[in-house]
Amino acid sequence: MLDVIYDSQFTEHTTGDDHPERPARLAAVIEGLTAGGCPPARYQLPTIVDRAALARVHDESYVALVERVCEKLPDYFVAELPTGDATVGHDSFRIALLAAGAAVDAARRARADRPVFALVRPPGHHAEPARGMGFCLLNNVAVAAQSARANTGATLIVDFDYHHGNGTQAWVERALSDGGAPLGFISTHAYPAYPGTGAFSESHTADGGFMIDIPLDLSTPTHDFIGAWSMLLPPLAAKLRPSTIVVSTGFDFLEGDPIAGLPVGIEAVDALCGLLGETAAAYGAGLAFVLEGGYSLPNLHASARTLARSFGEGAGRVHVPSGHMPHNPQLRGMIAEVLSWL
Ligand SMILES: [Zn+2]
Repeated sequence: MLDVIYDSQFTEHTTGDDHPERPARLAAVIEGLTAGGCPPARYQLPTIVDRAALARVHDESYVALVERVCEKLPDYFVAELPTGDATVGHDSFRIALLAAGAAVDAARRARADRPVFALVRPPGHHAEPARGMGFCLLNNVAVAAQSARANTGATLIVDFDYHHGNGTQAWVERALSDGGAPLGFISTHAYPAYPGTGAFSESHTADGGFMIDIPLDLSTPTHDFIGAWSMLLPPLAAKLRPSTIVVSTGFDFLEGDPIAGLPVGIEAVDALCGLLGETAAAYGAGLAFVLEGGYSLPNLHASARTLARSFGEGAGRVHVPSGHMPHNPQLRGMIAEVLSWL
């Protein structure tokens, strides 16, 4: 069974007319979840993020800046954050605190057999400790992972959004060097693409964890996308033995996205759900999904329906892809190198 954490206030984060990161995205996900057997009657409300938990990821001066910029805006006006391309309205700071809180709640409540989906706006994975950008104000997934790691130990972050999670990576690098429970980050992302980071040369293992960037050629097909995850997720999870898995759930990698999209079909979402469900079950890890990108409403609908079905009553029938190497030689080379580090 999939649980959902949601608040209608997430639709009140205004980004202006014609912005791709818009409130209608949430309605598309909600309809998809309902079609997959998870109706709104089952949703639960989030709690606002604890400011001390937030301060362990974001610099307090940056948090104060976002608060100040939003507070000064009159109703119905939007502005760009001075740190990057992230549009905010008067209520955006308050809503971002709630989104981060929803991610923390999801990670805390998730069980292997009962994943939780934090259905939030604004997204978070581009937000660095002192710099919001790429539609992101606060790094929801980093705050959730930080809390999970402190409370329950080994934590794995999985990011399959089309764009590289530069903000999450910045926090992971800092957290790895500070020590603590095992921590791992695995990201696939289109490359070259916004925000320009995430080259394979940034990948490494460390004492107590790893930081794995797998840049994908813009022509990466479904077979290779699923192949990369099927080859990497099981062995990397085995190294970490996570008690919590936090997923940067961006559906903009799917074909047809208006601002992103690889030639990857919806069956990749089935495959990811199967792989993640099996991995969570293997370690008894809580599985928390946190919405990131995805700007095609039909793709959001189809992905949410798949998510609900994969972890709903028919969950036992979900197909878990067996490990298979991609065809692309560069991708094969990167996977072979990562496996040689383990
Ligand atoms: Zn994205």
